[in-house]
Amino acid sequence: MTLAVHNLEVVYEDVILALRGASIAIPQDKIITLLGANGAGKTSLLRAITGLLDVHRGKITRGHVSLDGAKIDTRKAANVVAAGVGQVMEGRRIFIEFTVEENLKVGAHTSRRGADLAAHYDRIYEMFPVLASRRKDLAGYLSGGEQQMLAIGRAMMAEPKYLLLDEPSLGLAPKIVEQIRDLIVAINTAGTGILLIEQNAAMALSIAHHGYVMESGVTVMDAPAAKLRADEDIREFYLGINTDGASLRDVKHYKRRKRWLS
Ligand code: ATP
Repeated sequence: MTLAVHNLEVVYEDVILALRGASIAIPQDKIITLLGANGAGKTSLLRAITGLLDVHRGKITRGHVSLDGAKIDTRKAANVVAAGVGQVMEGRRIFIEFTVEENLKVGAHTSRRGADLAAHYDRIYEMFPVLASRRKDLAGYLSGGEQQMLAIGRAMMAEPKYLLLDEPSLGLAPKIVEQIRDLIVAINTAGTGILLIEQNAAMALSIAHHGYVMESGVTVMDAPAAKLRADEDIREFYLGINTDGASLRDVKHYKRRKRWLS
């Protein structure tokens, strides 16, 4: 069982080439991370999977997306969710004027009512005790970390087979990032495949089984996470570790490209 992107090319407004041959595979029993600098094409890849490209005037011009062997790139976004692909977008788009429970309800399949819905709330509250204690509170009063948990909990209401997470640790304190990380591991252990897009490469590589690095719309590295953790370029550019102790985050793009593409 795998969600996969095969040699994808994505173009916006008929002229802007955002993906130029990106391929990744997310087996249902694994955590996969996708690393890449700003503008590398990570969000475009997510949109291609979730059926949201057309909203942004983009389209797939080559390659395809498959879900457990079935081609899904022509499906509407709602059908992709119904087929088992959940998404937590960057920036925790929860409804701040709704209560925690109302937010969760939005994530449930519309067909769910009464006892069925109650069972789903219970499942989520067991996984996220902090949401249980605040179920009647307005989501806008939650802390940043709690809001991120709510966003993940909402996506889990539909019992996705695969969950796509865009920068879940963004702006959160290290302790909270640890909680989110443990939660991602728990969700995966319970049977959901994870695609984790992160600026926090150290966190992502600490739990991922496998990782990809994307550069200018192309997946340029594809390796087990342990290998990426040990890779000198990854250590320098994504983990900020190098021999003289300085961060190389600002090192010129061409240097990185030269090394990886040579
Ligand atoms: P970030 O980390 O900054 O979100 P990213 O890796 O997610 O970056 P994308 O947002 O996918 O990268 O962007 C890839 C390229 O596509 C960039 O050059 C970007 O300017 C362009 N792009 C993204 N969305 C659109 C759009 N709606 N219309 C036109 N160009 C776009």
